This record gives sequence, structure tokens and C-alpha cells, in this order.
Amino acid sequence: MTKHVYTFGAGQAEGKADMKNLLGGKGANLAEMNLIGVPVPPGFTITTEVCTMYNEKGQQATFDLIKPEVEAAVALVEKLTGTEFGSKENPCLMSVRSGARASMPGMMDTVLNLGMNDDAVEGIAKKSGNPRFAWDSYRRFVQMYGDVVMEMKPASKEEHDPFEEIIDQLKEEKGIALDTQFTTEDLQELVKRFKAAVKKVTGKDFPTDPWEQLWGSVAAVFNSWNNDRAILYRRLEQIPDEWGTAVNCQAMVFGNMGSNSGTGVAFTRDAATGEDIFNGEYLIDAQGEDVVAGIRTPQEITIEGSKKWAALQGVSEEERASKYPSLEEAMPEMYKQLNETQQKLEDHYSDMQDLEFTIQEGKLWLLQTRNGKRTGSAMVNIAVDMLEEGRIDEKTALQRIDAAKLDELLHPVFDTEAMKAANVLAKGLPASPGAATGQVVFFADEANKYPEAVLVRVETSPEDLEGMHIAKGILTARGGMTSHAAVVARGMGKCCVSGAGNVKINYKTRVMTIDGKEFKEGDWISLNGSTGEVYEGKVATMDPELSGNFAKIMDLADKFTRMTVRTNADSPADAQVARDFGAQGIGLCRTEHMFFEGERIKAMREMILAKTEVDRRKALDKLLPYQREDFEGILEAMAGYGVTIRLLDPPLHEFVPHEEANQKEMADEMGISVEEVKALVEDLHEFNPMLGHRGCRLGNTYPEITEMQARAIIEAAVNLKQKGVDARPEIMVPLIGTVKELKLQADIIHATAKKVFEEKGAECSYMVGTMIEIPRAAVTADKVAEVAEFFSFGTNDLTQMTFGYSRDDAGKFLPIYIEKGILKNDPFQVLDQEGVGQVVKMGVDRGRSTKPNLKVGICGEHGGEPSSVMFCDSVGMDYVSCSPYRVPIARVAAAQANIK
Ligand code: PEP
Ligand code: MG
Repeated sequence: MTKHVYTFGAGQAEGKADMKNLLGGKGANLAEMNLIGVPVPPGFTITTEVCTMYNEKGQQATFDLIKPEVEAAVALVEKLTGTEFGSKENPCLMSVRSGARASMPGMMDTVLNLGMNDDAVEGIAKKSGNPRFAWDSYRRFVQMYGDVVMEMKPASKEEHDPFEEIIDQLKEEKGIALDTQFTTEDLQELVKRFKAAVKKVTGKDFPTDPWEQLWGSVAAVFNSWNNDRAILYRRLEQIPDEWGTAVNCQAMVFGNMGSNSGTGVAFTRDAATGEDIFNGEYLIDAQGEDVVAGIRTPQEITIEGSKKWAALQGVSEEERASKYPSLEEAMPEMYKQLNETQQKLEDHYSDMQDLEFTIQEGKLWLLQTRNGKRTGSAMVNIAVDMLEEGRIDEKTALQRIDAAKLDELLHPVFDTEAMKAANVLAKGLPASPGAATGQVVFFADEANKYPEAVLVRVETSPEDLEGMHIAKGILTARGGMTSHAAVVARGMGKCCVSGAGNVKINYKTRVMTIDGKEFKEGDWISLNGSTGEVYEGKVATMDPELSGNFAKIMDLADKFTRMTVRTNADSPADAQVARDFGAQGIGLCRTEHMFFEGERIKAMREMILAKTEVDRRKALDKLLPYQREDFEGILEAMAGYGVTIRLLDPPLHEFVPHEEANQKEMADEMGISVEEVKALVEDLHEFNPMLGHRGCRLGNTYPEITEMQARAIIEAAVNLKQKGVDARPEIMVPLIGTVKELKLQADIIHATAKKVFEEKGAECSYMVGTMIEIPRAAVTADKVAEVAEFFSFGTNDLTQMTFGYSRDDAGKFLPIYIEKGILKNDPFQVLDQEGVGQVVKMGVDRGRSTKPNLKVGICGEHGGEPSSVMFCDSVGMDYVSCSPYRVPIARVAAAQANIK
């Protein structure tokens, strides 16, 4: 028979730490603490499976099934505490709390002091000799139960909590300011008024039967799994909806029983920095929620922490010691026990713990322990420190790294305090992490107007590249995570928020409007590329610190990885940044980005607008030296490693002049009329350029473009070789769907290389391969591999074409799809393993069926996303390639994939 309820108490437990899936994190650790001799109030855990059953079969059927087990468990708690549930003289009070597999702090519901009623309160008053405490517990219970179970919680943030209103009213009547000033009679009055309010709002009497209270609370916790807050949190943290929460019922212990009682939270190490110092906060004579409610100032646990706190707050030593003493000073014996317990727990779990404790009349109880949440830098420091302390081995240290979190360490960050005070104007996609503050400019070519500018555009195009480079950050109203702005900004390591829908831009008046508020050019705004938030005004930033521990983690990653990590880079500077981050080669150099700088755009336009092959070749001759120089730079920056250079990919219309002034300039340059230029531009217009005349379709219709690019690459490599530089070009043909498309391009490349070798009397080695980014190419990969020497999966286009979602337009419906649960993630950010991933797998397998040693990698944006990197490892890729600032993340994810 399936067991639904697991008990614990007095050093015994039916569960243990590795049963998190069934008992939730809290339940598993409560059991474990019992087993290792840490004092925990007795209780029981109703499993996560019951939550799933509750959601599927409904409340009645579920509760009928588990009732005998719950009753037996309550009997055990009664026995261990020597109390009785529902008794007048000696009542048993309980807490009911949620606890999912992954911690979801504060997202679900809790009920404390359950079992209280008009009889029990008298019993507790008599037994404790403290009627005020008994009535305070009672009024807290009615308030919590009313909010959580009887749904008295206000529906909107504008409404007041009815219970808080009653409290305020009574304070006014009594002329007092603090809760602590209520007398026992006042608390009795509150209970009376609270119950009346419940009756008035719900039409129901407040339940006096403890069993009814218990079942009501259990149902409320299960229901809270599906409250809006919890759903949103799961989305953000990628916690599956199916997991469900466990329910933990425990005998109450009270921190509000007078001056020898208290409650607090603590961390075994510093969660912000990782430093190995015990720290935390507590309050004397208080219940859990008082510590976080902000009504009273919580005090530090250690003397050291308390002194630090006082210095920051400008509190004198005298005042600190008298008004805000540390636990170490106020209750030395309790501190000693707590300190020993925290050490015991950290030793046992070999990880930084986040604890909750209560002291009831001089006895210490632990209510929770879990692996503490921490910043990216604390994560790295704690993992390395614990490795060096001999607590964990190298593989475990590496597994402790949440690869995505490393991002925090790599970009300038906002000052934490400054960010708290900042006014959030809008929220877009966190397209490229980091922090940026600057004055608003609306045009890329005006980015240098201010020393610190934030470029604000509806969307960006390759023409904006230089301005994007100059700007401190980029904000776009449209576009997703693979929009031009996002891709380019990530490559540059530049902060970017994209697709901020409520930002309205009027280029004419140079005004941006956000929710009715106007911002003119020159106004200051700040962007948080890690959260997607846009702030008003200047928010102070600070440089990230890359500690020695970061390098140690990277060394570990290299030790355990199978795949290598390359970078997507279009300039020697980007290549160098990536190399410094440990990239071993370039997986994608998008050559089109090289056509925009300075004078070369004119030659490029001339080439596109040319009417004959002769004219086109003339323009290409002008471009050749620029390209050769670029390739020399990038091949040299990555000397010794493979550099995959992709032939021109985007549709030609992206390069032609759309503005009158530029059209006139081109007309003069080419000796034709403006009308003729306009007509040519018009002719290049496409309804769906992403699926139009781009990629190898350009090279196959205008072979001379491929010829020029191949020549530039081969000449660059030969020149470098003659200088003694180990240049390793890999020429990549984009967007092929049939092997013939690749074959014709490969023929041109080989013929050109042969010619260059003859001309120069020198040779170099090179490879010719292709991108697999059209489903047909993956399906026919066995044939494609007859020609290709390597494959690189372009999962941006492959996702676009497998789903049939336009990369540029999906932003309109994807957020709704994710909200409705149609999709779990944005497939342009996280590789869809079930669908697109299978096409990738098919491509790899079929390619290698022809060429067993075929080199295979990925260069779509997914190459820097941890779960996608792990997938790439599982299908046997040789490398992943991602933007420079994601290289460390990919290195760690690749190593983790190989450890599993
Ligand atoms: C891709 O499609 O995944 C890719 C890398 O190419 P681009 O983003 O330039 O189309
Ligand atoms: Mg592509």
C-alpha cells in the first residue's frame, strides 16, 4: 500500500534527506535533522504525491484516503509532546506549512497555532501561566487562518487587510502605537472582532473544531500550489507544475513566551559573498513572521555581525549593546547551542545552510534547514572553499555551480542599495545581461552625442552596429531574444533590454513615452540587462570582481569536459575577449557585420545595386582588401584554433540605402539617378526576407560574392602562415537545404583556393563545411556529409523553421504561449529538446553515418544556454559556440554534462 504520511520526532523519522521528491525539501530535512540528533518539534509530512492526487481527484476522495494515516500521525505527535489535540486542559497546537521539492520562499501558505479555540486558549493560558501569550497566539491564528483558509485576504493590492484594519482601529481607540502594547483584554477583543469580521465577509462561523481546522489548512496549502504567485515563481525558476507541494504538520514551539524565548533565521556562511562566517537575525519574544514583517528591528546573532550592523546604521556601541544586543550576548548558552548546531548541519550537508530556529523558554528548536540561496560570487567562493576544506570533491564542487548564475560575475552590476531605491519604468526581455546608465538617444549615429548614452530604438538593424558599440546599453521596444539587438549586444557583452512593449517611441519628436510619462533625448535612464528592468534616472553601478576562485572553477571545468567551447565573434576584439574567457576557437563569424563599418558600406551597396556581373565584380574588388584585413585580424586573434567563417547570409535589402540622403549619395557615387537607385531598392524588397534571398541562395545566384569571400579568407590565411601564424580557417556555407546548394558553393571555394595557392606559390590548410539550419538539411544530412567537412547547427533558424515561428515576429505571441503553458520556455532561448532537438539529433546521426568523424558543433544562440549545452553533449557534438560573455557558462555546463 502506498504510504502518504511520514512521521518524525524524538530522534526518529520515517523519511530522510534524499527523499526530497516525495517529502519536499522541508519535510526531507526535518526528517534528516531528527536522524542526526538536531532538536526538531515532532510532526509529519503529507507527501507531494498526495498534492498531485488532490489536484486530480479532488479534496474529498484524497482526504478520505489519507485520513487514517493522518490520524495515526497526530496521535504520535500527541504522545511525543504529552498533549492532546482538541483537549481543554492540555491542548496540542500545530503548525501547517508547505514544502515543495525546490524551495519557493514565501510563495505558498502557512498556518500557525492551529488547534486554538475558546477552550484551548484557556488551557494554554493556565499551562503557560501567561494569558497574554495565549491570547496573542489565538489572535494570530484567527488572522492567519482567516486569511489563508477562509480567503479573507484582500483580492487587490489597493484593498486593506480586514484584520490589519481592525488592529489599527483598536490601536487608535486605545491610543497606542505598537502591537506589543496590547493588553490581554485587548487581544481578547481582537479575537472577538476578527471572528465577527469572518462571519460578516464569508457568512461562516470561525471553526472551533481542531480537526476541521487541520483539514482546512492542509487543503489551503495544496490550493496555494496553484496561486498566482507560486505559478509565476515556478515559471521564473523553471519548476515543473507537476511536482506539487508536500504539507508539513508539526507541534508548535513558541518564541513569544517571554524574555527567555525568541526566533530567528541564520546562514552558516555569508550568502552575498560566500565568506565563512555564521550570520543571521533574531528577535526576543516573537513569532516567525515578526522577524520578516519589519515592525521590529531584528538583531544580529553574533557579536561580530552586530557590531558591523551598528557601524553601517550609525548606531553607537552603547545603544547597540543595550537596545540591540546580539544573541551571543543576550542568550550566551542558546547561542552556543545554535552555533554548534549550525556547524553540525553544515558538516552534515556539506553545503551552506539557511536555518530557521525558535527558542522556547530556554530550549532551542530547529524548524528548517535547507541549502541557502546565494549570489553568483558566493556560489563560486563557497564551492571552492568547501573543496579546499576537503568537504566536497572536485566533481561536486563543479556540480554546485549554477552555470547560468555565473553571468552575474561577468558584467558591470548595479549597486544593490541603489537598485532597491530605483523606480522601475518598464520591463522587457533580459536580452543581454549587465547594467547600463546613460542619456537617451534615438539614433545610432548620435550615440556619441553624450559620453554615456543609452540607445533607444523600436528595433535595431545592422546599420546601427557602430552606435550600439558606442552606447552603454540598448533598449528596444520590439524584438525577442534572438532579435538583432539581442544577438549583437550579447556578442558585445553590452547590456540590452529588448521587446519592452510599453515603450512607445516617436522618432520625429525624439520622445519616448512609457505609461504616459515622457522622456526626451538626453534624459537619463538605466537598464538592467539581467532582469529586463528599465529604471528612471541614474542608478549607480559597480564593476564585477572576478576572483581567483572563478579561475579555479574554470580549471575544473576544463578538467572534466569532453566538448570544447568556441565563441561567436565578428571582430578581433570580441575574439580576444572570448579567448580570455577560455574560448577555444570561433564557431561563427558572421561576415555581414564586417560590411557596415566606415567606407565599406558604400562598396557593399555598389555591389548590390550593380546591374551587371562586371559592375558587381568591380565593387567586390573594392571590398576584398577590407575583408582580407578583417579575416587576418580574427584568424590571428584565434591563432592555433579553428575559426569558422560564414559566407554572407542576410538578405541584400538589409544593406541598401533606405533613406533619401543615402540614396542620393549612392546615385552620385554610381553615376545614376536617384530614381534608378530607388527602383533598385524597391526591387530588392521581400515580403518575408527571413525565408527569402539570403544565405547560400545569394552565393548561388551571385557566385562572384562567394568567390570574393573565399579569396579574402584564403589570402588572409596564407599571408598569416607566411608570418608564422597558425591560422585555421573553416569556411561555412549558410542556409543550405540540399546537398547541391552546398556542392556548388564548395566547388567555387576549392577552385578559388587553388587559384590563390598558385598565385602566391604558397598553401594553407582550410576546411569547407555547412550550417544545418533548415530541417531538410538535417533530414538529408547523410548526403550533405558527403560534401561537408563539418556541420554547425544554426538552431536559431532551425527553431524558426521547425516550429514555423518567425524569429522577428514571435515576440507577439510567445509570451502568451508561455503564460498559457502551451510552451514551457521561449524556444529561441532554450533549445526545444523534444522537437527541434530531435531534428538536431537526426542531423548528427545521419551526418556521422556517412562520415563517422564528422566534426559537429552548434552556433545558434542556444550554445550558451546550460540545458541546451547539456543536450548538445548528449547527442555527441564536439563543441558549442556562444557569445563571448557566455563562454564561461558554456564551459561549466559542458563539463557538468560530461560528469552526469
Ligand atoms: C542560426 O540560425 O542559428 C545562426 C547562428 O545564424 P543566424 O542567427 O545568423 O541566422
Ligand atoms: Mg541562421
